[in-house]
This record gives sequence, C-alpha cells and structure tokens, in this order.
Amino acid sequence: MEQLLAAALSKGACNFGQIAVRKGFVLTHVDDVDLAQPETFRSPEDAIALAGFDDAGKYRPLKTAPNLRHGWRMELVDLGEVVRALDYFYPARLSILREWKEDRLETTPLRATLDRQSGMYRVAASISDEQIHEVVADVCRSDGGCLRRILWRRDASGTIPSTKLPPEKFEVPNEPLPLLCQEGCTILINECRKKVKAE
Ligand code: SF4
Repeated sequence: MEQLLAAALSKGACNFGQIAVRKGFVLTHVDDVDLAQPETFRSPEDAIALAGFDDAGKYRPLKTAPNLRHGWRMELVDLGEVVRALDYFYPARLSILREWKEDRLETTPLRATLDRQSGMYRVAASISDEQIHEVVADVCRSDGGCLRRILWRRDASGTIPSTKLPPEKFEVPNEPLPLLCQEGCTILINECRKKVKAE
C-alpha cells in the first residue's frame, strides 16, 4: 500500500476522495489546503473521530459520502502512518484499489449481493430493475450520496444499475487514487429493502 501511495505522490500531492495528501505526510480536507489555523492532529488514529461526524456533528454511516468534516490538518511521520490514517478515513479503499490495479479485483453484481441477504433483508431481493434504477441513482450519486465509482453491474448480463447516473460514475477515473466500489454496500441494500416494503 505504501508503494501505491508513493507512486501517487510522485508529483508532490494527490487527492483521495475529499482528502488532500501532500509530501511531508500532511493530510487535510481538499477544501482546507491553505486554511490558516486548522486544528492539528498527529496520530493516524485521530482519523477515526475525524471520519465519524460531519461539520454539523452528525454521524457519517457511509465514510465515502461527500460530507467529510472540515477544519483539521494531520501531520504524520511516514507513509505507513499515512496509509493507516487513510484506511480509517476510507476503510479498505486502498486495498481495493491495489487489487484493481493488479487486475485481481472481483466485483459482485447487485442481484447476487441481494440474493445472499437473509433475515429482514431477504425481501430486498424482490426489487424490480426499475426500482434498482431509482434507488441506485438516489443512494450512490456523487453529489450528496457517495464518491465511489461503481464497478459492479446490476446482474450477470452486465447492465449498469442506473442510467440516471452519468456514465462516468461507472468508470475508473484517470486519477492516482480513485475511490472504487466493488459491490453494493449495506446502506444500498437497506434502501432496496425499504423500496420494496414501501411499494
Ligand atoms: S453501493 Fe457503493 S457507490 Fe453506492 S453508496 Fe454504497 S458504497 Fe457508495
């Protein structure tokens, strides 16, 4: 993971979601690179609390939602600490990216994810394609939903799950550290369940 990060930082700086990473092992919110008096943190574990709540103090159930808190700066000592902090901000996203770069990332169609649900989530599997189209557009949209690019498909046919989202939402951008989604998350599954129950 450190190699991945070192390559991404070869030009001096890069972004990972809403985090600006700079040489010298400094992290900030992308909007706060030049902030005059940020609150400074020096432990990677501080990222746990920073990632937990938005600017209004509201819990962030989805860490890749575009509502990362502002006003902080993290000064770390080496790439290993940067990797640890980024893994708290965006759990498992660096390892998923590495798997994708090494051409060994497996993605799961949404219908397969829905079919393996049990208990109260089992009903989610009866969602229609049209309902998936609506729910994915609402939950996964980059403006207010989630910053990840979607690599999974609706089903084994390879159809994208929603044409309401722009085509680039289903492509890997030409950036050093894209945030990728390899399968539908629990938040999406829960919204599928709610959609079925509501109708
Ligand atoms: S399914 Fe993936 S893209 Fe959609 S909200 Fe969940 S993590 Fe984000």
